[in-house]
Amino acid sequence: MHTISELRKKFVAGELSPVTVFDEAIATITAKNGNINAFLAVFTEARDEAVAAEARYKAEGDAAPALLGIPLAVKSNILIKGKNATAASKILENYTATYDATVIARLRAAGAIFIGATNMDEFAMGGSTENSAFGPTKNPLDTKRVPGGSSGGSAAAVAMGAVPAALGTDTGGSIRQPASFCGLVGFKPTYGAVSRYGLMAMGSSLDQAGPLTHTVEDAELIHSIISGTDSYDATTLTKDTYPEVPVKDKCVFGVPRKFLADGIDPDVLDTFNAHVEKLKAEGHTVVDIDLPVFEKGLAAYYIVMPAEVSSNLARFDGMRYGLSVEGDNLLDVYQKTRAQGFGKEVKRRILLGTYVLSAGYYDAYYGKAELVRTKMRAELAEVFKTVDVILTPTAPTPAFKIGEQEDPLAMYRQDIFTVPVNLTGVPTLSIPMGTVEREGIDLPVGVQYIAPHGGDARLFAIGKKVYDERQ
Ligand code: GLN
Repeated sequence: MHTISELRKKFVAGELSPVTVFDEAIATITAKNGNINAFLAVFTEARDEAVAAEARYKAEGDAAPALLGIPLAVKSNILIKGKNATAASKILENYTATYDATVIARLRAAGAIFIGATNMDEFAMGGSTENSAFGPTKNPLDTKRVPGGSSGGSAAAVAMGAVPAALGTDTGGSIRQPASFCGLVGFKPTYGAVSRYGLMAMGSSLDQAGPLTHTVEDAELIHSIISGTDSYDATTLTKDTYPEVPVKDKCVFGVPRKFLADGIDPDVLDTFNAHVEKLKAEGHTVVDIDLPVFEKGLAAYYIVMPAEVSSNLARFDGMRYGLSVEGDNLLDVYQKTRAQGFGKEVKRRILLGTYVLSAGYYDAYYGKAELVRTKMRAELAEVFKTVDVILTPTAPTPAFKIGEQEDPLAMYRQDIFTVPVNLTGVPTLSIPMGTVEREGIDLPVGVQYIAPHGGDARLFAIGKKVYDERQ
């Protein structure tokens, strides 16, 4: 296992070549991907870039761009010009991206090498990567189990040792929960910190792209490169959007005890409590807080998110992108294409979304959910007057078995701690907090650190202290 910062040092010192690392990555993928199914496409042709990177390190040394020669895996709903991007949907099986997403353009400028596109729940809808049209991804730490989702392929790509880091997207937990299940660091930035240009939209008011890595330091590095104002995405932040959130040496942590009382695996709760005790022992302050509205996030999310999904996925109509099934007339083409192209979960959410947005129900559902969202934000703002960071487990359970969560509602409960964060737009960092034993295997579980809007740097600072420095 290499981290980005280790690779960088070795590249600069000439102790390791980007070509060797690239070849090792391809060898790992060749050996393991048949079983794990983390990658949907592998870009072996990128080896030329590794050769060029090696020459550049010889010429430039430490002056070379920060990610020069670092191989990265990219979730398949993020566009890389000229590469197949499917979002793990049959409807885009043969779609080739025509431009680079802003996050890709920025990573490319920093010298990163994109080694492959990773598996995911179709259009990022799910929490296990079982909703992929191209088969589930297995968790490399226990192949009977899921890697989490929807960025499960990206998490598995890192956890199986193919790449030091991967990009995911997070609409309701899809970076953090797979990070938790695979023993990785996952970061969902403040909404608007990272451009959504070139990301296939799921819930536009919720989506953000971010890194899955082995260390907080690496996550911070990737975030520093992909974030920033983008003229192609009017929702990106400027440096004046939020007041500065100071970095703290010792933090006041808020724990929403009542929120944790319900439906959480007792072993996960024990691990969480032990983590909290460790923070106290290290001189931080921990207080109980109440978040009565924030706790209702799950219900609001499963109205707001499908509403946005139903609008965003209207573009897949057999005319503009990907699959087009012949029909007797235009409506027939739409219906056949969408019926054959979308999987079950995607259809379920489109139906739910069109229902909650329909004239007769808009006020009762969508309007009310948006109101709840406003109240959640107000509640958080109040709490952040007295605490620096809010703590919850990232997910209520460790990785579950493939096929274990048949009931969609049971699957949605996985998202209880993660979705309120997207609804309010605040930043959050998931770091491993320990393991939980299941059938003789130690499964990792993560803790989620939540900061106020614009507090991304605060999370990196505390995350490096409590995670990287303890390793
Ligand atoms: N599991 C959540 C869902 O299914 C989150 C998905 C995501 O963040 N893309 O909606």
